[in-house]
Parts: sequence; C-alpha cells; structure tokens
Amino acid sequence: MLGVFHDLETYGHEQVTFFHDKESGLKAIIGVHSTVLGPALGGCRMWKYTDEQAAVRDVLRLSRGMTFKAAVAGLKLGGGKAVIMADSHTEKTPEMLKAFARAVESLQGKYITAEDVGMTVGDIDTMRGITKYAVGGSNEGGSGDPSGMTAFGVFQGMKAAYKFAGLGENLEGVKVAIQGVGNVGYHLASYLSAAGAKLVITDIYPGQVEKVVQEFGAEVVAPDQIYGVDCDIFAPCALGSALNARTIPQLKCKVVAGSANNQLEVDSDGFDLFSRGIVYAPDYAINSGGLINVAAELDGYNHEKVVAKVSQVFNTIENILEISASQGIPPHQAADTLAQQKIEEGKKLQTVSKMVACSSK
Ligand code: NAD
Repeated sequence: MLGVFHDLETYGHEQVTFFHDKESGLKAIIGVHSTVLGPALGGCRMWKYTDEQAAVRDVLRLSRGMTFKAAVAGLKLGGGKAVIMADSHTEKTPEMLKAFARAVESLQGKYITAEDVGMTVGDIDTMRGITKYAVGGSNEGGSGDPSGMTAFGVFQGMKAAYKFAGLGENLEGVKVAIQGVGNVGYHLASYLSAAGAKLVITDIYPGQVEKVVQEFGAEVVAPDQIYGVDCDIFAPCALGSALNARTIPQLKCKVVAGSANNQLEVDSDGFDLFSRGIVYAPDYAINSGGLINVAAELDGYNHEKVVAKVSQVFNTIENILEISASQGIPPHQAADTLAQQKIEEGKKLQTVSKMVACSSK
C-alpha cells in the first residue's frame, strides 16, 4: 500500500502486521509503535472503515498515542493498538474474535490487547480462551470495564487543572459542561455530583441524558449548544475533534478537561486555547485511568493500588501545566515533551542493560 512505509518512518513505528482469516472474515491490523518501555498495550477497535487506508491511518495514529499515554502515566509499557475492519453490530462473531485472538497470540506478548470502540468485556473473555495477551475481561483476574477508572482519573486531572487556573481545588458549586454522558461521562457526572458541582450535559442519545438528569439533577442542552454554555469547566467526553476552529471561539469556560481521545482537531487548536488563556488538560494524560486499570492485570490486579496510581493523574496534569507555563508552550506540547523525555530515558536504560548483559556473558 503506497505511503505506509513513509508513515512508519514519520511516526517511528516498530511493526505493523496485517492479519486475514478466510473462515471468519477477519481483517485486522496490529500496530506496534514502541516497545521501548515495555510490551505494547492498547485496545482493539472494531469499526467499518470506508477503506483500508483509513484503517491503516487509524491504527498508526492510535498506537503512537498509546506510547505517549503509557509514558506520561509512568507505566512500563509501550504503545500499540489494533483495528478489526468490521461492523461490530452486524459482523462480529465469536469465530472472528477467536481468529483475532490467534493473531494476538502469534506476536507472543509484544502486543497486548484490550477493549476499545466496538469491543466489550465479553469479547475479551472470548479471546482469553485463546490468548493470555488480552486484558480488560471479567474472568481469570480480569479488571472488567475500565471506564469508571478513566472517569476517576479525569476527575483528578480536572481538579489539578482548575487549581492551576488559580481557582482552587474544591469543585463545590463549580459549573461543569459535559459533552457525552456514555460510559465515562456518566461516571464523571457521578464524581462531580458527589463533589457538589453543577452539571450541564448533552448527548445525542436521549437514554443516557435521562439517566444523568434523574440521578444527578443535571441541566440539559442540545448537542450544538454545549460549547457556548457559560461554565467554569468544559469536559469533552464524546468523540474526537471537539476542540476546533468552529468550537473554540464559542467557549466561555476557564478549563477544558475531559476523557475523549484526540480532542484537538489540529495542533494549532492547542495554541488557540493557550493564547485565549483557557487551561487545557491534554487528553492522553488525563484519560489514562483506564489504561492504568487494565495494565494492573499484568502484575495481579489490586484495586487499592490502582486507585492510588490513578489518583496520580492529578500530579501528572499539574506537572504538564507547570512545564507549559515555564517553557511558554501549550499543554499538549508540554505533554509530548514529557512523554518523549520518559521514552528517551527508557532507551538509555535499555542500552545500559544490554551492555551489562553483554559484559556478563
Ligand atoms: P461511549 O460510547 O460510552 O460514550 C460516548 C457518548 O458520547 C455516547 O453516549 C454518545 O451518544 C455521545 N456522543 C457522541 N457524539 C456526540 C456528540 N456530537 N454530542 C454529544 N454526545 C455525543 O464512550 P466512552 O467509553 O464513554 O468514551 C468516551 C470518550 O472517552 C471516547 O472518546 C473514548 O475514546 C475516550 N476514552 C474512553 C476510555 C474508557 O475507559 N472508556 C478510556 C480513555 C479514553
């Protein structure tokens, strides 16, 4: 496919593998961006891509993001991601999941899979029968649905960003606008409600909205009105690209802190937020709670340890915002700087341990 090697070189991927299984119809791509800090852990996305190029682009972009996410979270993990080219509602079968599990197993632990869009805890359970390199299931020490821990991390990071904006750490009475009250957004609403925050929510799915209104007394606005809500914090918890040239000028908040991946449509949107004085908690740093949760399975899952580690998202966001302020760069760039620094440190350690291994032979 024209351009793939160019992309691998640009993004620095170690390996991209294509898998096909005729019987089940599986068409999957596993992207291993980096194993410098450890095995490449990242979810598998099942999506009906318009074409193969779109699937390749997605797996390259997402797997690279996982390297940065793991590094910033201080995990001994690299970055990887998989995509299965299929409609999860109509084409997913146990045979297809098992064929994918065989593909994962064939990489012998270089890549560890988990759930992402279109994949469920039950799907991971199906795969676990075939490969041990799958986390986020419900059986055999599995940690289950990671969205609660993702929300807990976002709540911590949100407090850090709010504090950094000079507004204090207490969210009582603070108005938070949440875009998307699905798995993560719902749990985030629950944490915020318990902290005494006032909620304004939106979702394109009425069932979710009703639940949050009934349980937490949230105010509701139409999806296109959420950006202009007069609030303290905007929490994008739906899909990517929520922050762009059309939406940023509408924002009235002081802080943006939410769970969605790839919140900035383009890099310059991060500069735009920075120049407007809006404190942005970078997406892959604030939403790492789910990764921390599934990664904990590799060392024998311990809930208390996970909660302690996810609480540190507060410090991570604080650290990134301090780098941003001291270097005069937007937070999304400060997060990349921190991630690259940790990866470089990992490379140096790898070199040293190789030298030690050689000299002891
Ligand atoms: P989800 O599908 O359960 O929830 C997303 C919600 O957003 C849905 O209710 C959907 O109806 C709504 N939505 C979609 N487009 C919208 C729009 N234009 N306006 C308003 N609402 C809209 O997904 P989730 O698991 O809650 O994840 C939310 C985001 O967080 C995603 O971007 C995901 O990649 C990211 N994330 C999730 C996790 C996790 O643990 N689930 C971890 C890290 C990052």
